[in-house]
Amino acid sequence: MKLLEGKNVIITGASRGIGKGIAQVFAEHGANVAFTYSSSEAPALALEKELTAKGVKAKAYKSNAASFEASEQLVANVLEDFDGIDVLINNAGITKDNLLMRMGEEDFDSVIEINLKSVFNMTKAVQRTLLKQRKGSIINMSSVVGVKGNAGQTNYAASKAGMIGFTKSVALELGSRNIRCNAIAPGFIETEMTEKLDEKVVEGWRNAIPLKRGGAPEDVANACVFLASDLSAYITGQVLNVDGGMLT
Ligand code: NAP
Repeated sequence: MKLLEGKNVIITGASRGIGKGIAQVFAEHGANVAFTYSSSEAPALALEKELTAKGVKAKAYKSNAASFEASEQLVANVLEDFDGIDVLINNAGITKDNLLMRMGEEDFDSVIEINLKSVFNMTKAVQRTLLKQRKGSIINMSSVVGVKGNAGQTNYAASKAGMIGFTKSVALELGSRNIRCNAIAPGFIETEMTEKLDEKVVEGWRNAIPLKRGGAPEDVANACVFLASDLSAYITGQVLNVDGGMLT
């Protein structure tokens, strides 16, 4: 059953990893997909082709989610290319891990700007459109690390915890207009982001997961389908853990 037939979605950071998985699964559910990338042009254009071949409208945009002006311009461009926006998925994110003792100011600031400020930028940019149509679903890609913290990730954990506060506040502000805002807290999902981790750390994470495996981008994408679709019409302001039971 196609759950997102004809819906228009914007996904930030979909050239690879979880964002790409979301774009693929959304297209299979009949959604038209506008998505961004930062520098991976060739993979982004290949994905645009792949999605279009599934019979939906798809377009890749190079856009820096950390920039307020670029986010406004992106949404204006998407509105010209697509006939509206139903779903926003704030997925773009980076890590710059280090112990606090060794973390430079630049590494703190850039993670906050790309992971958290981007959510403000994009939500502000789509807000008017969603308010006018009196419906919409916003999904913010947080992390279990934003809920429980993680040594060596003060910058990342702060950005992901900030996303949860932002999500709940937007849900309170926009609920009366039928605009829902939820967060997903993925656990250990195997992508290029987690490839950077030390194998010993990865083994530790896997052992701590009740389902005894890392997640795949599709695991997160399926949760996004639920939160984007009318199946979750009465759910807002929530954090959905997609973590194999890690936080249980
Ligand atoms: P990834 O494989 O590193 O992919 C990151 C994506 O974000 C890429 O498409 C990248 O584009 C894009 N991006 C980076 N900086 C950007 C910017 N300034 N503007 C626009 N796009 C930008 O990461 P992932 O593992 O798929 O993670 C996706 C999201 O899930 C992130 O928010 C991450 O924090 C969150 N998450 C991941 C895990 C996990 O275990 N993997 C767990 C919890 C939460 P380019 O390819 O052009 O660089």
